[in-house]
Amino acid sequence: MMTVLGCIVYDHNIWLVLMAVLLCGTGSWVTSRLFSKTITASGKQRVGWQAMTALSAGVAIWCTHFVAMLGYDARVPIGFDLPLTVVSLLAVVFGNAIGFAVAISKRHFLMPALGGAIVGLAISTMHYTGMIAYRVQGIVSWDATYLVASILLSVALSSAALHFGMRKGSNLMAVVLTLAIAVLHFTGMTAFRIEPMFVDGSFSNPDSLWTLAIAISGMAFVIVACGLVSYLIDNGTRAETIEHLRQMALYDALTGLPNRANFNEKLDRELAVADTQKIRIAMIGIDLNRFKEINDTRGHHVGDEVLTDLGIRLKNLVREDKGEFIARVGGDEFAALFRIEDKDLTGVNRFLKGLEAVMFSPINVDESQIVAGASFGVAIYPNDATTKETLVSNADLAMYRAKSQLTEKRVCFYEAGMDTAVKARRCMAADLRKALSRNQLSIHYQVQTSVSTGEVTGYEALLRWHHPEHGFIPPSDFIPLAEENGLILQLGEWVLRTACTAAASWEPACKVAVNLSAVQFAAGDLPKLVMSVLLETGLAPHRLELELTETAILKDRERAFHMLRQIKSYGVSVALDDFGIGYSSIDTLRSFPFSKIKLDRSFIDEAHSNEEALTIIRTVLALGKGLRIPVLAEGVETKEQLSLLESEGCGEAQGYLLGRPASLDQILATGRLSIVERSLSSSIADAKDQTSLADVAVGRTGTDG
Ligand code: C2E
Ligand code: CA
Ligand code: CA
Repeated sequence: MMTVLGCIVYDHNIWLVLMAVLLCGTGSWVTSRLFSKTITASGKQRVGWQAMTALSAGVAIWCTHFVAMLGYDARVPIGFDLPLTVVSLLAVVFGNAIGFAVAISKRHFLMPALGGAIVGLAISTMHYTGMIAYRVQGIVSWDATYLVASILLSVALSSAALHFGMRKGSNLMAVVLTLAIAVLHFTGMTAFRIEPMFVDGSFSNPDSLWTLAIAISGMAFVIVACGLVSYLIDNGTRAETIEHLRQMALYDALTGLPNRANFNEKLDRELAVADTQKIRIAMIGIDLNRFKEINDTRGHHVGDEVLTDLGIRLKNLVREDKGEFIARVGGDEFAALFRIEDKDLTGVNRFLKGLEAVMFSPINVDESQIVAGASFGVAIYPNDATTKETLVSNADLAMYRAKSQLTEKRVCFYEAGMDTAVKARRCMAADLRKALSRNQLSIHYQVQTSVSTGEVTGYEALLRWHHPEHGFIPPSDFIPLAEENGLILQLGEWVLRTACTAAASWEPACKVAVNLSAVQFAAGDLPKLVMSVLLETGLAPHRLELELTETAILKDRERAFHMLRQIKSYGVSVALDDFGIGYSSIDTLRSFPFSKIKLDRSFIDEAHSNEEALTIIRTVLALGKGLRIPVLAEGVETKEQLSLLESEGCGEAQGYLLGRPASLDQILATGRLSIVERSLSSSIADAKDQTSLADVAVGRTGTDG
């Protein structure tokens, strides 16, 4: 050992030794990094990394030796044999390639050590070939002990280096490999003896040796740096790929919002925060109101645009640093979280207002505006639920409640007891689904008469459900349910068809009024349905009146008005139902030529007790006169109410006084109505109507009037 140190201190130029050691350390460090890449890569990439490792290691080892040799003070003129010097470089590069290949071949756990031994031999081969290429003017002799020791040490240390590289990590490999290279060189140089023997003096020049050393070091650093750069680039792309995969796994591709998996993880974390910080967490379930309809009527690309737009707006709204979070958890479902840190619900209510504003703001698509709308259900941890599952399910319950109260209440907070109510509703929905096929549905008709003459002007069709267990269920209970689950489309079609079929053979040939739900406007092709039912049943279009409330038009006025104009062009009349309550606006009456205003029964009910109600009756009658739209008063139960309406100039009335809703058989029994063969009942006007309807159907006249 002392001899080796002596050899370094006395026989070498210390600066060049330091440069060699630096080169050796850097080269080993880069080699160990590249080697770690080789281990994890596969296929062609593995071959590439392997070549890079062998090249970088080989160049570093060779240059270390060469620079150290240039720093070696032989005390006699020296020179290098070029072909042998090149051979020494090739030997170490290829030897390393074989060594690394053996090390990673994984056939046996000793393979890395064996591969390392080959690398050690390659280093030794390089060193001694290099030494043979080292020409000195003197007699060279070798100390066999140091020579053998240098080879053994190199083999053992390289062996350990690759073993560590495979099992313990890059840093240890770099240190041990540096040792292997340095120890071989300096122990080998201790074995080297020269007896000076001058032949000529022009053999070497110290300045040119320095230049050579710097040039070689530069080249070595460049090659090693290339290895390092490729390692860094690969790490960068790998990090990018991992980030990309993470994005794909945790974020929704369309909206860029966190997805369901992400939401679930976040919810776990937030509930843990709530437990430790003793705060509450609001879970908000959000469901778009009109997404299916948008997709059905405008196409999926419009649906996608709506979602994308909402995604951008929601991302801008939600501040994660303030304990807010939102994710897209399904096609048209979103879920949000909010940390409630104050005593009351001010914060979460503000957050909900923001979400509502986003969901109800118009979105520009294809030069038109779409309002998606949404229903929100809120459940609070730990007040409403103490587990994640119940929290989610209670927020859902509240959301369904909000949905069932469409347009009235967009946000619903969970309340105990909702579950039982929901279960009962689900049961009822299932029963309603079967009601049609099991003939449990029927229609009652309620007469509409002229106020002044008492003459029958028409009958309103009112749906009835006779449940086998629960008996009669009023439409106010099951219509909203049917609207919620879309069953109203089937029910509505059934009512329309049944009422038109019946009315076609009535004598006198009065009108039949059929109620339409908002959902029927939103989904499906209503004009087409009306047309086909009229053609099918043979009912003259002027004998059909469709009743709708303002809520039906409210959601998408343009679309609703377009449909209504089409329906009106067939000759069918359209009445505005329940006028005076809810959204009644003069603007609606001005925007569409309704055939009739049906004044809500609440005003008639209070006409004699409430001055305000009377004022409204007068105002609506004046409005009808001004706009030339006849008014029908609903819910007339007393003679006083009827005479009041007569004195105020109301045209038509409907109510228990004039006739309760009754089955067709009951009405026929009163003799007010009779059934005749359709061929007889079809007046000339009816036949004309049908002919022009058929014209419209085949497109002989315009449909939009
Ligand atoms: P509506 O369209 O306002 O129907 C009139 C309701 O008032 C009927 O209730 C009728 O029985 C009731 N009524 C009639 N005269 C009087 C009266 O003098 N006093 C009182 N207190 N009530 C009177 P019904 O049959 O229970 O229907 C309730 C609602 O259900 C209807 O209100 C309508 O909105 C809806 N509905 C009924 N059938 C259908 C249908 O086939 N389709 C749709 N979409 N909705 C329907
Ligand atoms: Ca009605
Ligand atoms: Ca009504």
